[in-house]
Amino acid sequence: MEIIERQETSHPFLDGHPKRLLIGGQWVNSVTGETFEVTNPATGKVIATVARGNAQDIDLAVRAARAAFEGPWSTWSPFDRQNLMLKIADTIEKNFDDLGLLETLDMGAPVARTSMFKRWMLQAFRFYAAQAVNIRGETLENSFPGSFMSYTVKDPIGVVGGIIPWNGPLITQLWSICPTLATGCTLVLKPAEEAPLSSLRLAELMMEAGLPDGVVNVVPGPGATAGAALAEHPDVNKIAFTGSTATGKRIVEASALNMKKVAVELGGKSPDIVFEDADLDIAVPGAAMGCFGNTGQVCYAGTRLFVQRSIHDAFAQRLADFAATLRVGDSCDPATQLGPLVSKAQLDRVTSYVDLAQQEGARVMFGGERLGGSLAEGYFVTPTVLAGVNNDMRVAREEIFGPVISIIPFDDEAEVIHLANQTEYGLGGAVWTRDVGRAHRVSRAIKAGILWVNCYGVTDPSVSYGGTKMSGYGSKGGPHHIEDYLYSKTVWLRTA
Ligand code: NAD
Repeated sequence: MEIIERQETSHPFLDGHPKRLLIGGQWVNSVTGETFEVTNPATGKVIATVARGNAQDIDLAVRAARAAFEGPWSTWSPFDRQNLMLKIADTIEKNFDDLGLLETLDMGAPVARTSMFKRWMLQAFRFYAAQAVNIRGETLENSFPGSFMSYTVKDPIGVVGGIIPWNGPLITQLWSICPTLATGCTLVLKPAEEAPLSSLRLAELMMEAGLPDGVVNVVPGPGATAGAALAEHPDVNKIAFTGSTATGKRIVEASALNMKKVAVELGGKSPDIVFEDADLDIAVPGAAMGCFGNTGQVCYAGTRLFVQRSIHDAFAQRLADFAATLRVGDSCDPATQLGPLVSKAQLDRVTSYVDLAQQEGARVMFGGERLGGSLAEGYFVTPTVLAGVNNDMRVAREEIFGPVISIIPFDDEAEVIHLANQTEYGLGGAVWTRDVGRAHRVSRAIKAGILWVNCYGVTDPSVSYGGTKMSGYGSKGGPHHIEDYLYSKTVWLRTA
């Protein structure tokens, strides 16, 4: 494994001034004046001090969002909103390098990864801009005696709360920002404490592009206070939540307080299935990066790797050899493939699961260690390949959220379908085979929200995906996503 040595990187956004909350178009301190520090996980060093939002700040932000929803924003036509979104896309296009680098410094994803988000972000704003002018109701046949007609119109649902995790905020926040702007809703966004900076910078860019005051408000702060206050707030009409299944359950409970609409995008333990007839030259790197990408901190990471027994030993060895070629280290170096984990807590979690795997009888074929040397101050681990795993072990059942892949042998199609579905989660999965019939059969049989055949992790804003089972509900992307931000009103009209 090649170590990419760390170098100091500066950023114009990290100029030492506290980062404030965006409420009603103003950058403000928190009501209590409290702040928190954000560290670069590659160095363990503090890179920014951010105002710490709490319940009172959330309340102010919700009021600002309500005022904007009922104010001038409600008079914007779909074409006005479309134009705004296209201007935001243009502004991002001009400023992307600084935005992508900020995400890298904030949560550790290598620039090779964050730079790919440029295309994705621009497509998201431009795709949803097209959705803004595609909101339509329908006329309805009815058999009520007399002369009546009936039709539906779609109205924006109101104030939306967006709560997002730290593992890719640059993209994740768009799942609530874009449909909010397309439909005429307003938003209070609560980024995770570990990685709030790209949300604050994106908000600056959106304001520069002409975002009206109060339409998007950004309040970083702790989940237990700011997040919970948003989830419970009686004047919030919808919560778009992305995060762990444990928190997702709390979000759903809180929604009952005022019957909020909820979308919960949660964790996973996705099966990745390699049949003996697969093209191993693409399956080996594909399966490896389907788990190791973003240092394993991806909700749909293919962490349970089922390999047909006839090729199991050779495949496991090739996977370990591939892991050994990965370049790990300084996230700001374009050559780096894997950066650090986001925090010390995440590092401890991942290494303790590797210990647990060995206690359970698994064998570490590669990795499993924290990296030292010039990377010792950051939260780096080696990508880890575990063999001798079975579906009953905790490493095969629980979400680790790190670069740890568990290889599990299987004999035939029926067995692997059973094993793949033997999980409480239902987010992603993949099948590697040259047999097109088998590809269809197995991908249909896996109970999950998104399945890939001979590839892993391909997504696009115009194509929807979501989860099932304990991975949550409410899909994002695609032309139907905006329906979640609208409600349908039926109008009856006497015509004679
Ligand atoms: P988390 O649930 O701890 O936190 C997510 C967000 O919820 C953060 O902003 C946090 O501050 C907030 N929060 C925490 N407690 C809260 C509460 N009581 N009320 C309201 N908000 C609260 O998750 P995490 O560890 O930050 O993120 C990792 C998890 O996110 C993993 O399980 C991963 O699979 C999941 N995830 C899912 C998707 C998806 O699309 N399905 C995408 C990315 C990440």
